Amino acid sequence: MEGKLNVQTENIFPVIKKFLYSDHEIFLRELISNAVDATQKLKTLSTRGDFKGELGDLTIDVKIDSKKKTLTVSDRGIGMTADEVEKYINQIAFSGVTDFLDKYKDSHEPLIGHFGLGFYSAFMVSDKVEIFTKSWKDEPAQHWSCEGNPEFTMVEDKKADRGTDIVLHIADDCKEFLEEGTILQLLKKYCRFMPVAIRFGEETVWVDSETECDKDGKPKRVEKKQPRVINDPEPAWKKSPSSLTDEDYKKFYHELFPMNFEEPLFQIHLNVDYPFNLTGILYFPKVRKTIDPARNKIQLYCNQVFVTDQVEGVVPDYLMLLHGVLDSPDIPLNVSRSYLQSDGNVKKISQHISKKVADKLEEMSKQRPQDNETSSQQDSEVSKSPLEEKWDDIKIFVQYGMLTDEKFCERAMKFYLLKGVDGTYYTLDSYREKIKALQTDKDKTVCYLYASDAEEEHAYIEKAKAKGYDVLLMDSPLESHFINLLEQKIEKTRFVRVDSDTVEKLIPHDDAIPEKLSKEEQEKLKPIIEAEVNKDKFTVQLESLESDDAPMQVTQSEFMRRYREMAQTSGGGMGFYGELPESYNLVVNINHPLVGRVLNETDADKQKELVHQLTDLALLANGLLKGEALSRFLKRSVEMI
Ligand code: ADP
Repeated sequence: MEGKLNVQTENIFPVIKKFLYSDHEIFLRELISNAVDATQKLKTLSTRGDFKGELGDLTIDVKIDSKKKTLTVSDRGIGMTADEVEKYINQIAFSGVTDFLDKYKDSHEPLIGHFGLGFYSAFMVSDKVEIFTKSWKDEPAQHWSCEGNPEFTMVEDKKADRGTDIVLHIADDCKEFLEEGTILQLLKKYCRFMPVAIRFGEETVWVDSETECDKDGKPKRVEKKQPRVINDPEPAWKKSPSSLTDEDYKKFYHELFPMNFEEPLFQIHLNVDYPFNLTGILYFPKVRKTIDPARNKIQLYCNQVFVTDQVEGVVPDYLMLLHGVLDSPDIPLNVSRSYLQSDGNVKKISQHISKKVADKLEEMSKQRPQDNETSSQQDSEVSKSPLEEKWDDIKIFVQYGMLTDEKFCERAMKFYLLKGVDGTYYTLDSYREKIKALQTDKDKTVCYLYASDAEEEHAYIEKAKAKGYDVLLMDSPLESHFINLLEQKIEKTRFVRVDSDTVEKLIPHDDAIPEKLSKEEQEKLKPIIEAEVNKDKFTVQLESLESDDAPMQVTQSEFMRRYREMAQTSGGGMGFYGELPESYNLVVNINHPLVGRVLNETDADKQKELVHQLTDLALLANGLLKGEALSRFLKRSVEMI
């Protein structure tokens, strides 16, 4: 039989080839998916009792014949009758291609990688494609052939064995698909977890020899060639979570990411079948200091067929920090990304994943290590929840999620952990309870004190502690954004860094300290000090502090510092704040005897010297005295002694 394919466009094959040029490697995935489907259908017919014959070896074979320049995919699935070839290949499959091209001919947006192009994608790499097929039904085998134009031929064939061979005559400009290395790499990329075994080429293994022994009488280890199966038909995500140990999960992680040497922290196994179908495993990697820009660590599968590792639009941004696999036939794959984001199923799936992540973290926050015999040890050491154990490694992930996903944020408010500078963890509620008595200011706002660097802000931390205050350690790169979020979410709350003001004013109470200098004296003092400091950088501020507090101190306004940091970590939008120069307050304690001495000093040189000495000491305490200024300070100190 000869015929003309049912198409409107005169010659559509050059279009297929050109249009999908960059992705033409997917032809192999499409052909093998068809072979897998045909095999699965036969298994179903067999379990239902419709097919009564022997299933036999159902392995799919991929073979290269470099002399004939062919690549063949063979399966032992249901095969096709003449009518079926007519219906599925000549009519339906092809109309699928024209629909597809019609829909996307004006679209320049990159597609997600699965084209639903099916069988005809074979023409992206071939001059000629042949099908040899014999149905499981008792009907003659068929040989179909088409040379990349709308004409085809179909004749009866003598093929005796059930199943289908697809033979591609590889085009001259696609010779790489006749190389074993290329095909092996493609099989590993797209077919690694397909549910039917796929055989390609041979591999060498070491086995016990049956004939030779070594000197200890043990069988000698010898090399042996055997057919190579390239896939794992039963990947971990398809198994039931109860059948897997932690070790199994870790092993699977390394199977997925052979180049990642770090162990994942823990994982979530997803398994939903209603109202959408979704399976998968998501691993939590360590996220210490930066948000990993590598966005290809979640692989998307459709019934165990690899589709893409670019999951933007499928899962919310913050979840892309996780590693693993998602498998869902309900994610529409032959659509553009912008469409994907508005798709109902995709939204539900991504909400489901967010919810599961929150569930897992909440559950970890509630667990306590099992009470056991080592109770004496437990007395001395407070036992940590699994969430506390892992917190430092996942905090940025949680913060990023809370900042970008409203629903996740609501959930996380219950388990988010604050960490004290001494290493103790608190939930948001328990921390507020702890500090509320001492750290509520005169406006009834609870002031959370924090340090960004426990080393550098050591002196300030000590002062705050001496007052009985608690200090948090908040050191992630997202912290300034995150603090703003908490201030919005928790009413009557203010975060202040320990060095943003003198300890008295960090948390303003009503009880003012009496001033030892009169208003006139203060007005006289201020210009004396201002004349000696760099006014662009420092604002002189007179304050009534305890007389045994430092004579001068350097502080940095919470608001200015935080907004500058936020502008620096968020790119555009807050440009103005990023431009602000770094500025400090020089706080002068008017009740300190040395400050009184500055005012009363009659010798102008001595007065200057004293001011320099006091400002330098304040700068020194803050790590701001450097270079030449530091040398001058040292010299002056020696002279003064
Ligand atoms: P799709 O797989 O998306 O349905 P294809 O163009 O790949 O589209 O294939 C069209 C149809 O041809 C399939 O649905 C199937 O009925 C039939 N077919 C393709 N390959 C095989 C095969 N190896 N064995 C049996 N039937 C096949």
